[in-house]
This record gives sequence, C-alpha cells and structure tokens, in this order.
Amino acid sequence: MMQFKSNSYKRYYRISLFALLGLVLMLIAMNLDKKVYKVYIEDRLVGVTTDSPEVIEKTYNEVKAKRYAQGADIIKEELVITEEEQLGQEEVLTHSQLEEKLYVELEQEEIVPVISVVQGKTFQRQVPNEIVYVEDASLYVGESKVLVEGREGTQEITVHKSIDSEGVTKEKVVENHMVKDSQPRVIAVGVKEKPAYMVPVEDYVFTSSFGPRWGRSHEGIDLAVSTGTPVAAAADGVVIQSGWNGGYGISIYVDHGNGIITRYGHLSQAYAQVGRSVKQGETIGLSGNTGNSTGPHLHFEIRIGDEAVNPVNYVDIEY
Ligand SMILES: [Zn+2]
Repeated sequence: MMQFKSNSYKRYYRISLFALLGLVLMLIAMNLDKKVYKVYIEDRLVGVTTDSPEVIEKTYNEVKAKRYAQGADIIKEELVITEEEQLGQEEVLTHSQLEEKLYVELEQEEIVPVISVVQGKTFQRQVPNEIVYVEDASLYVGESKVLVEGREGTQEITVHKSIDSEGVTKEKVVENHMVKDSQPRVIAVGVKEKPAYMVPVEDYVFTSSFGPRWGRSHEGIDLAVSTGTPVAAAADGVVIQSGWNGGYGISIYVDHGNGIITRYGHLSQAYAQVGRSVKQGETIGLSGNTGNSTGPHLHFEIRIGDEAVNPVNYVDIEY
C-alpha cells in the first residue's frame, strides 16, 4: 500500500517537474519571440507596444489622414520606431490605446488656426500688350516704324484677405479674368543693309550729272527738290563747314574720315554746326537756291583725297 502510494507520488512529482520545465521553456521561447517597440513622434514618446512596425506605421498613417480630414495642417511629423531588447517599467499599450495616443499627439501639433476675419477686394490691373516685330525690307537695319499702336489689356482680380487667430494674414486670389483684351503693338524693323553712302534727299529729279559742263568741270550732281526739303548726311561723319561759302551758297561739308568728304550746296538752312558729329540719314539742313544756282536744287559732291569723284558710283541713285 505504502509502496504503491510512494511510487504514485514519485511519478506524479516527476510528471509535474517535466511539465514545469516544459512550461518554463515555453515561456522563455514566447518571451524571446515577443518583440517590444517604442513609438515616437519626432522626439516625443507615444508609448510602448507589441504591435509590429508595419501595424504601427499603418495605424499612424490612418490617424494622420483622419487629422488632415479634420483640418489639421501637419507640416512635418516623423514617426520613429525603435526595437527594445528588454521591457522596462513602461506599460505596454494595447492597439486601441496606441491609436488613441497617436491621435492625441497629432492633435497637439500644427492644427490650423481658426480663420476669424475675411476681407475681399476687387481691383483692376493693366496688362502690358505683346509686341510683335515684323521685318520690313524697305527700312534700313536699325530703323523701325510702329505699324499698329495696339493697347494694354485690363485684368480684374478678386483677392480674399484672411487674418487668423494668431494674427497671421494671408492673401488668396479667388478670381482673375480679363475685362478688356490686350492688342499687340506691331513694329516694323528694317532688314535692308545700309549703303556706305545714301542719297541726301528724297523725291528728287536728277537734273545734272558729274563732269564737264559749260566749259568747266561740274564736281557733283544736281538733284532738283523744292526749297525746304530735308537734306540728310550721306554717311556718319563730322561737320567741317557750315554756312555761306561762295558759289556753294549756304552749304555743309561733312568729313567721313579716310580723306572722304561730302558737300551739300545751295541750302536754305544749315542746321549742323562745325564740329558736330552726325549720323547717316540725320537731317543737317534744308535745301534751297542759294549761291551760284539757277533754281531750287541740292548740289551733292563726294571728294576722296580732295578730288571730286562721280557720286553715282557711290550711291544708289536713279539718273
Ligand atoms: Zn551742282
């Protein structure tokens, strides 16, 4: 009886010992398997959880989306998850507790201040018109002419100005439309190459050529124009004579450098004074009938090294 009793007790004890050992091993295994994570938003500890990083991140994103939907302006919030070797004194959060804590954390930060005042204003603004350039073969390079003036457009803009509870003002364009369309300004620009020397007058009649005339040598060409016709410098240069000069009457001489001089005779007015620099095409005087002249015309002369040359070889002229 005792024998049986003793054996039975021993076996029971042995089984219990094995069961206990198994339980301890199981608990150790479970403990090794159970990882713990600390969850931070920026450097703020939210809590400790046994949820996996994937679950934590998913929960965080869901809470954040909910906060956005509520009008929160979460500018920059970084989720940080650290894996912990050993659990300290921290209480392990359940999944719903973690969710709630994340929600509260995101509430504390960056909620858009309440917009308290909104003012609207509408105003008009001029819109500069486009400029369109067209090439014009009748104008010289550097010359231009406005073909169409065009006009500026008018834009109407409505702006809402808001002042939030923190006193920060913001302006937002809520409407923007054209009340008057702009029209492009069209400018013709010259593409014709400038000649070295140009004819000093327009709308002339070629009346006398270079060479022997009435027993003397005619040292230029005569271009009949009515008195008062603008006379232009044939090329860039410096005025070396201006005013009355014998048979030339009121005249202007322009020095173009390299020994080249042009002379303009029988003028009614000499505008350009001696020493003045003039540009090709610039009006230097008005035509007339002064000096040794039998009718209103321009006497035009080109001299190279003080020798008169035939101007028709140097300018594009009809004769
Ligand atoms: Zn002449």
